[in-house]
Amino acid sequence: MITLMKESGRKYPGNAGEESMDLTEQKLISLIDARKEEILAYAGEIARHPEPGFEEYKTAEKTADMLKQMGYPVKTGLAGTGVRADWKEKSGPSVMIIGELDAIGCKNHPMADAENKTAHACGHHAQLAAMIGAAMALSDPEIREKLCGTVSFLAVPAEEYIDAEKRAGLRKQGIEFASGKSELIRRGEFDDTDIIMTTHVHMVPVKEDLYLGNPSCNGFTAEKVTVRGKPAHAAIDPWNGVNALSIASSAIQMMGLMRETFREEDHARLHNVIRKAGDVVNSVPDEAIVETKVRASSLERIQEIRKMTDRAYDGAAYAFGGKIEREILQGYMPVLYRSADRVLLEAAEALAEISPVTYRMVTEQDFNNACTDVGDLTHLFPVLNFTFSGFQGHLHGEDFCITDPEKAYLLPAKMLALSVYRLLRQDGEEARRIIDSYTPVFDREGYTRYVRETIRV
Ligand SMILES: [Zn+2]
Repeated sequence: MITLMKESGRKYPGNAGEESMDLTEQKLISLIDARKEEILAYAGEIARHPEPGFEEYKTAEKTADMLKQMGYPVKTGLAGTGVRADWKEKSGPSVMIIGELDAIGCKNHPMADAENKTAHACGHHAQLAAMIGAAMALSDPEIREKLCGTVSFLAVPAEEYIDAEKRAGLRKQGIEFASGKSELIRRGEFDDTDIIMTTHVHMVPVKEDLYLGNPSCNGFTAEKVTVRGKPAHAAIDPWNGVNALSIASSAIQMMGLMRETFREEDHARLHNVIRKAGDVVNSVPDEAIVETKVRASSLERIQEIRKMTDRAYDGAAYAFGGKIEREILQGYMPVLYRSADRVLLEAAEALAEISPVTYRMVTEQDFNNACTDVGDLTHLFPVLNFTFSGFQGHLHGEDFCITDPEKAYLLPAKMLALSVYRLLRQDGEEARRIIDSYTPVFDREGYTRYVRETIRV
């Protein structure tokens, strides 16, 4: 449930209030406006070639080309398909803007790829366009002179959940962790980063153009459970069999009954999919495969509920005399709430002065029941986040489409550029204040250890 805040006051030119944008900010805005057609063309091209996680080859190539054209040194092939551009300065804080490369499986979407069945139904192409627009503005030499520190642009692979089967193949290729950001943390790609900026189309119902800050969000863990029974003829000697379907369905029943013990504040969600439960109807099913996913608002509760589902499987197997084999898959960590940083609020205010932009800030009560691997980043870095409008339809649905390119591509590009400027101007004073006031939950080693300890293959 989102608690609605009253809409922040809009100010238009000529209305009360001083102009809060300085000349550099006005230039950032006009640089983005001047390249509107290029930004729209790039977003259109990405939308026309959707690709699944860790296979975003065309998307990565196009993104790398754009960044190279702006004069940035570009690295490619990070965790498979990741693309990174840096504008480095010897001293000062390091701010990274993230864009997500992958599309989501959505075969009935009108823009779905006929072969890979994915579409940009989560608006990641809009995020990339925003990142590219900001990179264009921030590559201007005059703007650079005003800023200290390093600005990086990282297009990351695979934000969307990757299923167990595909993960096994990826592990063989050296991709040990489950998502793009997680794998890039493991590989040290964020080691020199101080502050991360993320953005996305609105993920919860918000009527304003911009939603500033990072609302709390569920994390999850998943497991693939194989139930081993014993085959027998279903009519001649069923007493010699152990029914794996009965074990699986009993375990799922128990999980259903356990739901009454979930606390509201934990936002627990528990989902099961039976992938297999027997082969032929006149034999006792000797193998069942179930995928179980547990979502909750803290790492502790996720593990606590996962232990309950373990007991359900073990108890059912004990009752029928079968066995359980489990593969615990890495999930995503919950997003740690972060209120709107001053730089985001000031950027939105400044934009609202020159155009009819509406915005509001996240509150501590706001909650998103879905999950994203941005949650992992929030355990290691201050993550300045906002979401934006400009689309219609449902996230991951076949009706999702961008309807307002100004709001979905250009406005978030301006927000990113203005925020980076406000972070790194005046010797990075604002960035340093944010870095000093942030306490990470994990460093890279601690994070890697935690993930390895919680996954069991
Ligand atoms: Zn998404």
